[in-house]
Amino acid sequence: MSKNILKIEKLPNEQGYFGSFGGNYLPEGLKKEFKKIAEEFLKAKDDNDFNNELNYLLKYYAGRPSPVYFARNLSKKYGAEIYIKREDLNHTGAHKINHSLGEALLAKRMGKKKLIAETGAGQHGVATATAAAIMGLECDIYMGAVDVAKEKPNVDRMKILGANIISVESGTKTLKEAVDEAIIAYSKEYETAMYAIGSAVGPHPFPMIIEHFQSVIGREAREQFLEQAETLPNHVVACVGGGSNAIGIFSGFLNDDCVNLYGVEPLGKGVKLGENAASITYGKEGILHGFKCLLLQDENGNPANAYSVASGLDYPGVGPKHCYLNEIGRVKYDVINDNEAIDAFYELSRLEGIIPALESSHAVAYALKLAKEKQGEKILVNLSGRGDKDIEFVMSIKK
Ligand SMILES: *Cc1c(COP(=O)(O)O)cnc(C)c1O
Repeated sequence: MSKNILKIEKLPNEQGYFGSFGGNYLPEGLKKEFKKIAEEFLKAKDDNDFNNELNYLLKYYAGRPSPVYFARNLSKKYGAEIYIKREDLNHTGAHKINHSLGEALLAKRMGKKKLIAETGAGQHGVATATAAAIMGLECDIYMGAVDVAKEKPNVDRMKILGANIISVESGTKTLKEAVDEAIIAYSKEYETAMYAIGSAVGPHPFPMIIEHFQSVIGREAREQFLEQAETLPNHVVACVGGGSNAIGIFSGFLNDDCVNLYGVEPLGKGVKLGENAASITYGKEGILHGFKCLLLQDENGNPANAYSVASGLDYPGVGPKHCYLNEIGRVKYDVINDNEAIDAFYELSRLEGIIPALESSHAVAYALKLAKEKQGEKILVNLSGRGDKDIEFVMSIKK
Protein backbone atom coordinates (compact mmCIF):
# COMPACT_ATOMS: atom_id res chain seq x y z
CA MET A 1 0.00 0.00 0.00
CA SER A 2 1.40 3.39 -0.97
CA LYS A 3 2.60 5.73 1.73
CA ASN A 4 0.11 8.36 2.69
CA ILE A 5 2.08 11.54 3.17
CA LEU A 6 -0.66 14.09 2.82
CA LYS A 7 -3.17 14.46 5.59
CA ILE A 8 -6.43 13.37 4.02
CA GLU A 9 -8.98 16.14 4.15
CA LYS A 10 -12.35 15.28 5.60
CA LEU A 11 -14.28 17.81 3.55
CA PRO A 12 -14.40 18.05 -0.25
CA ASN A 13 -13.49 21.32 -1.99
CA GLU A 14 -16.06 24.11 -2.35
CA GLN A 15 -17.58 22.50 -5.47
CA GLY A 16 -17.88 19.17 -3.72
CA TYR A 17 -14.95 17.32 -5.32
CA PHE A 18 -12.70 14.73 -3.72
CA GLY A 19 -9.84 14.78 -6.24
CA SER A 20 -11.64 14.50 -9.57
CA PHE A 21 -14.76 12.78 -8.17
CA GLY A 22 -18.02 14.12 -6.78
CA GLY A 23 -19.44 17.52 -7.69
CA ASN A 24 -23.04 18.44 -8.32
CA TYR A 25 -24.53 17.90 -11.79
CA LEU A 26 -28.10 19.02 -11.18
CA PRO A 27 -30.46 21.55 -12.78
CA GLU A 28 -30.08 25.13 -11.45
CA GLY A 29 -33.09 25.15 -9.09
CA LEU A 30 -32.03 22.02 -7.27
CA LYS A 31 -28.42 23.14 -7.25
CA LYS A 32 -29.42 26.23 -5.30
CA GLU A 33 -31.33 24.14 -2.78
CA PHE A 34 -28.39 21.75 -2.37
CA LYS A 35 -26.18 24.78 -1.72
CA LYS A 36 -28.56 25.81 1.06
CA ILE A 37 -28.42 22.30 2.51
CA ALA A 38 -24.61 22.44 2.43
CA GLU A 39 -24.53 25.79 4.24
CA GLU A 40 -27.01 24.67 6.87
CA PHE A 41 -25.16 21.40 7.41
CA LEU A 42 -21.80 23.16 7.91
CA LYS A 43 -23.43 25.33 10.59
CA ALA A 44 -25.29 22.43 12.21
CA LYS A 45 -22.28 20.17 12.55
CA ASP A 46 -20.59 22.73 14.82
CA ASP A 47 -23.74 23.71 16.69
CA ASN A 48 -23.97 22.47 20.29
CA ASP A 49 -27.75 22.13 20.37
CA PHE A 50 -27.77 20.13 17.15
CA ASN A 51 -24.99 17.84 18.33
CA ASN A 52 -26.52 17.38 21.78
CA GLU A 53 -29.78 16.23 20.26
CA LEU A 54 -28.08 13.95 17.74
CA ASN A 55 -25.85 12.45 20.42
CA TYR A 56 -28.82 11.92 22.72
CA LEU A 57 -30.69 10.04 19.97
CA LEU A 58 -27.64 7.99 19.00
CA LYS A 59 -27.09 6.95 22.61
CA TYR A 60 -30.55 6.49 24.10
CA TYR A 61 -32.59 5.74 20.99
CA ALA A 62 -30.27 3.93 18.57
CA GLY A 63 -28.24 2.24 21.31
CA ARG A 64 -24.75 3.60 20.63
CA PRO A 65 -21.92 3.07 21.21
CA SER A 66 -22.03 -0.29 19.45
CA PRO A 67 -19.38 -2.58 20.95
CA VAL A 68 -16.14 -3.83 19.41
CA TYR A 69 -16.05 -7.56 20.08
CA PHE A 70 -12.99 -9.85 19.98
CA ALA A 71 -14.13 -12.85 17.91
CA ARG A 72 -12.38 -15.54 19.91
CA ASN A 73 -13.44 -18.59 17.90
CA LEU A 74 -12.80 -17.11 14.46
CA SER A 75 -9.44 -15.86 15.69
CA LYS A 76 -8.45 -19.28 16.95
CA LYS A 77 -9.48 -21.01 13.74
CA TYR A 78 -7.99 -18.49 11.28
CA GLY A 79 -4.81 -17.51 13.14
CA ALA A 80 -5.21 -13.72 13.24
CA GLU A 81 -6.81 -11.58 15.95
CA ILE A 82 -10.22 -10.71 14.52
CA TYR A 83 -12.33 -7.94 16.06
CA ILE A 84 -15.86 -7.00 15.02
CA LYS A 85 -17.50 -3.58 15.21
CA ARG A 86 -21.13 -4.46 16.00
CA GLU A 87 -23.23 -2.05 13.89
CA ASP A 88 -25.69 -4.95 13.63
CA LEU A 89 -26.79 -4.14 17.18
CA ASN A 90 -28.14 -0.69 16.31
CA HIS A 91 -31.86 0.03 16.39
CA THR A 92 -33.32 -1.09 13.01
CA GLY A 93 -30.42 -3.51 12.56
CA ALA A 94 -27.72 -1.66 10.64
CA HIS A 95 -25.53 1.43 10.42
CA LYS A 96 -28.12 3.28 8.32
CA ILE A 97 -29.87 4.68 11.40
CA ASN A 98 -26.75 6.83 12.03
CA HIS A 99 -27.21 8.94 8.91
CA SER A 100 -31.01 8.74 8.88
CA LEU A 101 -31.24 10.40 12.30
CA GLY A 102 -28.77 13.05 11.17
CA GLU A 103 -30.66 13.77 7.96
CA ALA A 104 -33.99 13.97 9.79
CA LEU A 105 -32.54 16.41 12.33
CA LEU A 106 -31.14 18.52 9.53
CA ALA A 107 -34.53 18.52 7.77
CA LYS A 108 -36.19 19.65 10.98
CA ARG A 109 -33.62 22.39 11.44
CA MET A 110 -34.35 23.65 7.92
CA GLY A 111 -38.09 23.76 8.67
CA LYS A 112 -38.97 20.90 6.31
CA LYS A 113 -42.11 18.82 6.83
CA LYS A 114 -41.25 15.70 4.88
CA LEU A 115 -38.42 13.29 4.11
CA ILE A 116 -38.15 11.86 0.58
CA ALA A 117 -35.94 8.83 0.10
CA GLU A 118 -35.24 5.92 -2.22
CA THR A 119 -34.71 2.38 -1.08
CA GLY A 120 -33.56 -0.88 -2.67
CA ALA A 121 -34.05 -3.80 -0.30
CA GLY A 122 -35.85 -1.48 2.10
CA GLN A 123 -33.14 -1.07 4.75
CA HIS A 124 -32.66 2.65 4.12
CA GLY A 125 -36.42 3.07 3.77
CA VAL A 126 -36.98 1.52 7.20
CA ALA A 127 -34.25 3.66 8.79
CA THR A 128 -35.66 6.81 7.18
CA ALA A 129 -39.25 5.96 8.15
CA THR A 130 -38.02 5.37 11.70
CA ALA A 131 -36.21 8.71 11.84
CA ALA A 132 -39.28 10.45 10.36
CA ALA A 133 -41.50 8.89 13.04
CA ILE A 134 -39.33 10.01 15.94
CA MET A 135 -38.90 13.52 14.48
CA GLY A 136 -42.57 13.99 13.54
CA LEU A 137 -41.94 14.28 9.80
CA GLU A 138 -43.92 12.89 6.89
CA CYS A 139 -42.08 10.32 4.81
CA ASP A 140 -42.30 9.28 1.13
CA ILE A 141 -40.26 6.24 0.15
CA TYR A 142 -39.65 5.45 -3.54
CA MET A 143 -39.07 1.78 -4.21
CA GLY A 144 -38.91 -0.24 -7.44
CA ALA A 145 -41.99 -2.42 -8.00
CA VAL A 146 -39.80 -5.53 -8.19
CA ASP A 147 -38.32 -4.71 -4.78
CA VAL A 148 -41.76 -3.92 -3.31
CA ALA A 149 -42.87 -7.44 -4.22
CA LYS A 150 -39.62 -9.07 -3.03
CA GLU A 151 -39.15 -7.25 0.27
CA LYS A 152 -42.57 -7.54 1.87
CA PRO A 153 -41.43 -7.50 5.54
CA ASN A 154 -39.59 -4.19 5.05
CA VAL A 155 -42.48 -2.71 3.06
CA ASP A 156 -44.81 -3.65 5.93
CA ARG A 157 -42.41 -2.18 8.49
CA MET A 158 -42.33 1.14 6.62
CA LYS A 159 -46.12 1.20 6.43
CA ILE A 160 -46.46 0.48 10.14
CA LEU A 161 -44.02 3.34 10.81
CA GLY A 162 -46.32 5.66 8.87
CA ALA A 163 -44.40 6.09 5.60
CA ASN A 164 -45.99 6.29 2.14
CA ILE A 165 -44.51 3.76 -0.27
CA ILE A 166 -44.42 4.83 -3.92
CA SER A 167 -43.94 1.80 -6.14
CA VAL A 168 -41.80 2.70 -9.21
CA GLU A 169 -42.78 0.98 -12.45
CA SER A 170 -40.15 2.35 -14.89
CA GLY A 171 -37.11 0.51 -16.33
CA THR A 172 -35.88 -2.48 -14.34
CA LYS A 173 -38.19 -1.40 -11.46
CA THR A 174 -35.34 -1.53 -8.95
CA LEU A 175 -33.01 0.85 -7.08
CA LYS A 176 -31.71 2.97 -9.96
CA GLU A 177 -35.21 3.89 -11.12
CA ALA A 178 -36.30 4.45 -7.52
CA VAL A 179 -33.54 7.08 -7.21
CA ASP A 180 -34.56 8.65 -10.55
CA GLU A 181 -38.18 8.98 -9.40
CA ALA A 182 -37.30 10.19 -5.91
CA ILE A 183 -35.16 12.98 -7.41
CA ILE A 184 -38.00 14.01 -9.77
CA ALA A 185 -40.48 14.11 -6.87
CA TYR A 186 -38.02 16.03 -4.72
CA SER A 187 -37.42 18.60 -7.47
CA LYS A 188 -41.13 19.51 -7.21
CA GLU A 189 -41.29 19.55 -3.41
CA TYR A 190 -37.96 20.81 -2.19
CA GLU A 191 -39.36 23.89 -0.54
CA THR A 192 -41.15 21.76 2.04
CA ALA A 193 -39.25 18.47 1.79
CA MET A 194 -35.72 17.20 2.37
CA TYR A 195 -34.00 14.51 0.35
CA ALA A 196 -32.63 11.81 2.64
CA ILE A 197 -30.12 9.84 0.61
CA GLY A 198 -29.20 6.31 1.67
CA SER A 199 -25.44 6.18 1.23
CA ALA A 200 -22.28 8.28 0.80
CA VAL A 201 -23.30 8.99 -2.80
CA GLY A 202 -25.25 11.61 -4.72
CA PRO A 203 -24.56 15.22 -5.60
CA HIS A 204 -22.59 17.46 -3.22
CA PRO A 205 -23.18 17.97 -0.27
CA PHE A 206 -24.62 14.49 0.42
CA PRO A 207 -21.39 12.43 0.37
CA MET A 208 -19.92 14.91 2.88
CA ILE A 209 -23.05 14.85 5.06
CA ILE A 210 -23.29 11.06 5.14
CA GLU A 211 -19.59 10.70 5.91
CA HIS A 212 -19.97 13.10 8.81
CA PHE A 213 -22.94 11.25 10.32
CA GLN A 214 -21.29 7.84 9.83
CA SER A 215 -17.90 8.91 11.19
CA VAL A 216 -19.22 8.05 14.65
CA ILE A 217 -18.40 4.42 13.76
CA GLY A 218 -14.72 5.17 13.19
CA ARG A 219 -14.38 7.44 16.22
CA GLU A 220 -15.85 4.84 18.54
CA ALA A 221 -14.01 1.92 16.92
CA ARG A 222 -10.59 3.56 17.20
CA GLU A 223 -11.06 4.33 20.87
CA GLN A 224 -12.59 0.94 21.70
CA PHE A 225 -9.86 -0.91 19.83
CA LEU A 226 -7.08 1.00 21.59
CA GLU A 227 -8.72 0.28 24.91
CA GLN A 228 -8.95 -3.46 24.31
CA ALA A 229 -5.86 -4.24 22.26
CA GLU A 230 -3.64 -1.37 23.50
CA THR A 231 -2.60 -0.71 19.93
CA LEU A 232 -4.23 0.15 16.60
CA PRO A 233 -5.42 -2.62 14.26
CA ASN A 234 -3.10 -3.61 11.39
CA HIS A 235 -6.08 -3.95 9.05
CA VAL A 236 -9.61 -2.52 8.85
CA VAL A 237 -12.16 -4.15 6.51
CA ALA A 238 -15.61 -2.96 5.40
CA CYS A 239 -18.03 -3.79 2.57
CA VAL A 240 -18.75 -1.12 -0.05
CA GLY A 241 -22.10 -0.59 -1.74
CA GLY A 242 -22.40 3.17 -2.00
CA GLY A 243 -19.79 3.32 0.73
CA SER A 244 -21.40 4.78 3.87
CA ASN A 245 -20.49 2.13 6.46
CA ALA A 246 -16.99 1.86 4.97
CA ILE A 247 -16.28 5.60 4.98
CA GLY A 248 -17.70 5.70 8.51
CA ILE A 249 -15.18 3.25 9.93
CA PHE A 250 -12.28 4.31 7.65
CA SER A 251 -12.64 7.94 8.76
CA GLY A 252 -11.34 6.93 12.20
CA PHE A 253 -8.10 5.58 10.72
CA LEU A 254 -7.42 7.51 7.47
CA ASN A 255 -4.52 9.42 8.94
CA ASP A 256 -2.99 6.43 10.74
CA ASP A 257 -0.44 5.37 8.14
CA CYS A 258 0.18 2.09 9.97
CA VAL A 259 -3.42 0.94 9.47
CA ASN A 260 -4.20 -0.79 6.15
CA LEU A 261 -7.74 -0.18 4.91
CA TYR A 262 -9.74 -2.52 2.66
CA GLY A 263 -13.03 -1.81 0.88
CA VAL A 264 -14.78 -4.99 -0.25
CA GLU A 265 -16.95 -4.84 -3.37
CA PRO A 266 -19.43 -7.52 -4.46
CA LEU A 267 -18.22 -9.73 -7.31
CA GLY A 268 -21.68 -11.32 -7.46
CA LYS A 269 -21.70 -14.17 -9.97
CA GLY A 270 -18.59 -13.10 -11.88
CA VAL A 271 -16.55 -10.53 -13.77
CA LYS A 272 -18.94 -9.89 -16.70
CA LEU A 273 -20.95 -6.69 -16.97
CA GLY A 274 -24.26 -7.25 -15.18
CA GLU A 275 -22.92 -10.05 -12.98
CA ASN A 276 -21.45 -7.89 -10.23
CA ALA A 277 -21.58 -4.49 -8.58
CA ALA A 278 -17.84 -3.84 -8.20
CA SER A 279 -17.84 -0.21 -9.33
CA ILE A 280 -14.30 0.68 -8.29
CA THR A 281 -12.79 -2.57 -9.52
CA TYR A 282 -14.49 -2.64 -12.94
CA GLY A 283 -16.05 0.81 -13.40
CA LYS A 284 -14.97 3.79 -15.48
CA GLU A 285 -15.39 7.47 -14.73
CA GLY A 286 -18.94 8.60 -15.41
CA ILE A 287 -21.85 10.61 -14.06
CA LEU A 288 -24.84 9.01 -12.33
CA HIS A 289 -27.60 10.69 -10.32
CA GLY A 290 -25.80 14.04 -10.40
CA PHE A 291 -22.26 13.14 -9.30
CA LYS A 292 -19.04 11.89 -10.88
CA CYS A 293 -17.72 8.51 -9.79
CA LEU A 294 -16.42 5.18 -11.03
CA LEU A 295 -19.42 3.68 -12.72
CA LEU A 296 -20.30 0.31 -14.20
CA GLN A 297 -21.38 1.16 -17.74
CA ASP A 298 -21.92 -0.48 -21.08
CA GLU A 299 -19.98 0.43 -24.24
CA ASN A 300 -22.39 3.34 -24.87
CA GLY A 301 -21.76 4.79 -21.42
CA ASN A 302 -25.17 3.84 -20.01
CA PRO A 303 -25.20 2.71 -16.38
CA ALA A 304 -25.13 -1.09 -16.24
CA ASN A 305 -27.49 -3.21 -14.19
CA ALA A 306 -25.62 -4.04 -11.03
CA TYR A 307 -26.03 -7.38 -9.29
CA SER A 308 -25.11 -8.87 -5.92
CA VAL A 309 -26.71 -11.50 -3.71
CA ALA A 310 -26.69 -8.70 -1.14
CA SER A 311 -29.21 -6.22 -2.51
CA GLY A 312 -27.83 -3.41 -0.33
CA LEU A 313 -24.64 -3.57 -2.40
CA ASP A 314 -26.04 -3.55 -5.94
CA TYR A 315 -25.62 0.05 -7.08
CA PRO A 316 -23.68 0.70 -10.33
CA GLY A 317 -21.88 3.74 -8.87
CA VAL A 318 -20.00 4.38 -5.63
CA GLY A 319 -19.25 7.30 -3.32
CA PRO A 320 -16.78 9.88 -4.66
CA LYS A 321 -14.55 9.79 -1.58
CA HIS A 322 -13.93 6.08 -2.18
CA CYS A 323 -13.00 6.79 -5.82
CA TYR A 324 -10.51 9.32 -4.50
CA LEU A 325 -9.09 7.05 -1.79
CA ASN A 326 -8.63 4.39 -4.48
CA GLU A 327 -6.92 6.87 -6.82
CA ILE A 328 -4.38 7.95 -4.18
CA GLY A 329 -3.88 4.37 -3.00
CA ARG A 330 -4.89 4.94 0.62
CA VAL A 331 -7.53 2.20 0.56
CA LYS A 332 -7.22 -1.13 -1.23
CA TYR A 333 -10.45 -2.15 -2.98
CA ASP A 334 -10.98 -5.83 -3.67
CA VAL A 335 -13.85 -8.23 -4.36
CA ILE A 336 -15.73 -11.13 -2.76
CA ASN A 337 -18.29 -13.18 -4.69
CA ASP A 338 -21.78 -14.41 -3.70
CA ASN A 339 -20.64 -17.88 -2.66
CA GLU A 340 -17.77 -16.61 -0.52
CA ALA A 341 -20.17 -14.19 1.21
CA ILE A 342 -22.69 -16.97 1.92
CA ASP A 343 -19.95 -19.21 3.34
CA ALA A 344 -18.87 -16.37 5.62
CA PHE A 345 -22.50 -15.82 6.64
CA TYR A 346 -22.54 -19.40 7.99
CA GLU A 347 -19.05 -19.21 9.44
CA LEU A 348 -19.82 -16.18 11.59
CA SER A 349 -23.21 -17.58 12.58
CA ARG A 350 -21.83 -20.95 13.66
CA LEU A 351 -18.55 -19.91 15.24
CA GLU A 352 -19.61 -16.70 16.98
CA GLY A 353 -23.41 -16.87 17.20
CA ILE A 354 -23.81 -13.69 15.15
CA ILE A 355 -25.99 -13.83 12.02
CA PRO A 356 -24.65 -11.11 9.71
CA ALA A 357 -26.37 -9.28 6.85
CA LEU A 358 -25.27 -10.66 3.46
CA GLU A 359 -23.73 -7.23 2.75
CA SER A 360 -21.58 -7.44 5.89
CA SER A 361 -20.76 -11.08 5.09
CA HIS A 362 -18.63 -9.76 2.20
CA ALA A 363 -16.41 -7.94 4.72
CA VAL A 364 -16.27 -11.00 6.97
CA ALA A 365 -15.27 -13.23 4.03
CA TYR A 366 -12.47 -10.86 3.10
CA ALA A 367 -11.23 -10.65 6.70
CA LEU A 368 -11.03 -14.45 6.86
CA LYS A 369 -8.99 -14.54 3.64
CA LEU A 370 -6.73 -11.81 4.96
CA ALA A 371 -6.30 -13.66 8.26
CA LYS A 372 -4.73 -16.61 6.45
CA GLU A 373 -2.08 -14.30 4.95
CA LYS A 374 -1.55 -12.13 8.02
CA GLN A 375 -1.14 -14.68 10.79
CA GLY A 376 -0.99 -13.14 14.25
CA GLU A 377 -1.95 -9.65 13.04
CA LYS A 378 -4.97 -7.64 14.19
CA ILE A 379 -7.96 -7.26 11.88
CA LEU A 380 -11.01 -5.08 12.60
CA VAL A 381 -14.16 -5.84 10.56
CA ASN A 382 -17.13 -3.53 10.33
CA LEU A 383 -20.27 -5.63 10.71
CA SER A 384 -22.63 -3.17 9.03
CA GLY A 385 -25.88 -5.01 9.82
CA ARG A 386 -27.67 -8.11 11.02
CA GLY A 387 -29.01 -10.92 8.89
CA ASP A 388 -32.65 -11.22 9.93
CA LYS A 389 -33.74 -9.82 6.57
CA ASP A 390 -31.69 -12.48 4.70
CA ILE A 391 -32.75 -15.59 6.56
CA GLU A 392 -35.56 -16.63 4.25
CA PHE A 393 -33.35 -16.21 1.18
CA VAL A 394 -30.39 -18.09 2.63
CA MET A 395 -32.62 -20.99 3.70
CA SER A 396 -34.01 -21.19 0.16
CA ILE A 397 -30.58 -21.80 -1.38
CA LYS A 398 -28.72 -23.93 1.13
CA LYS A 399 -29.43 -26.50 3.80
C1 LIG B 1 -27.27 -0.65 2.88
C2 LIG B 1 -26.33 -1.57 3.52
C3 LIG B 1 -24.98 -1.67 3.10
C4 LIG B 1 -24.43 -0.94 1.92
O1 LIG B 1 -24.41 0.44 2.03
P1 LIG B 1 -23.09 1.29 2.24
O2 LIG B 1 -23.55 2.67 2.01
O3 LIG B 1 -22.06 0.84 1.27
O4 LIG B 1 -22.65 1.05 3.63
C5 LIG B 1 -24.13 -2.51 3.81
N1 LIG B 1 -24.57 -3.24 4.84
C6 LIG B 1 -25.85 -3.20 5.26
C7 LIG B 1 -26.26 -4.05 6.40
C8 LIG B 1 -26.77 -2.36 4.62
O5 LIG B 1 -28.05 -2.34 5.04
